Amino acid sequence: MYFEPKMIKVQTGQIVEFYSNSCSVLSKGKEFKCKIRGRINLVVGDLVQIESSSVDGNSKGLVIKRLDRVTALYKSKEKVKKPIAANISHIGILVTKNPKTNPEFIDKWITISKIASIEPFIIFNKIDLLQNSAFQEDQKIYDRIGIKTFQISAKLSTNVDELKKYLSKTTTIFVGNSGSGKSTLTSAITGKDILSKALSNNQGVHTTSVSTLYHTGEMKIIDSPGVRDIGIDHLKPQEIILGFPEIINYSLNCSFPNCSHQADEGCEVMAALKNGDIEESRYNNFIFLRNQEKTK
Ligand code: GDP
Repeated sequence: MYFEPKMIKVQTGQIVEFYSNSCSVLSKGKEFKCKIRGRINLVVGDLVQIESSSVDGNSKGLVIKRLDRVTALYKSKEKVKKPIAANISHIGILVTKNPKTNPEFIDKWITISKIASIEPFIIFNKIDLLQNSAFQEDQKIYDRIGIKTFQISAKLSTNVDELKKYLSKTTTIFVGNSGSGKSTLTSAITGKDILSKALSNNQGVHTTSVSTLYHTGEMKIIDSPGVRDIGIDHLKPQEIILGFPEIINYSLNCSFPNCSHQADEGCEVMAALKNGDIEESRYNNFIFLRNQEKTK
């Protein structure tokens, strides 16, 4: 009897779906269901080498190696940090009036992004429910520090094409409070019904714990439930300033190198705050986030 030898090839791909101990890898336009060799620490977005085989028309594989990450997004609990997604280029922060997004949330995510060398931008959502000027003040704050902003209605797809143009060739993750429109926006952009995909897998709400990378043309969108309750206690208090480029700028001229930026004497940051050159909400969030990290 003749058995056709099983062809095993080594090829590179990207993890597009991640479960607890297996994953799907997209390689050369094909998706491979993969097991993982040993204890390689993997997340969605990771570039990996796989040993692939095709058995009865099914593409299968074994992840044998993870390639270096260009960027990684971490969450932490009690100072233990855990990666949630890799090789992200942009973080889109969804901001809404209802539910109200508080400014600490926005500045926390700008800080996380900058520390991870990922580009943050802001999406003001649900404009169909609001007057034209509703986000004017918020937008001014972020325009001043060079953060790109969009005003959209994910539900009605208003200005979504403009956003899609910006997202071309990026790998983006959307963050926002529950109810801010992350799933609605991901559906509007990818054309995939994110919610019904969860239900059709017949695993109910548990399916939403799977992290997925959606490819749409040259755009990649990562949907990860891990970012919903992100803790940042692995960040050092002295790193927090990286999320506040305007504060870095003025701090360079403070009289004392270890200036806390909370006392007037010789502090250029306090002076800029008084002149209105630094926005009050940005300053308050800087102090809040830095002091929060200091007390841990
Ligand atoms: P998620 O929890 O961030 O994923 O938020 P969802 O995408 O589930 O949206 C929460 C609710 O807000 C749903 O009822 C959506 O239909 C609604 N929603 C999302 N975007 C918009 C929008 O642009 N305008 C309006 N009016 N409702 C929206």
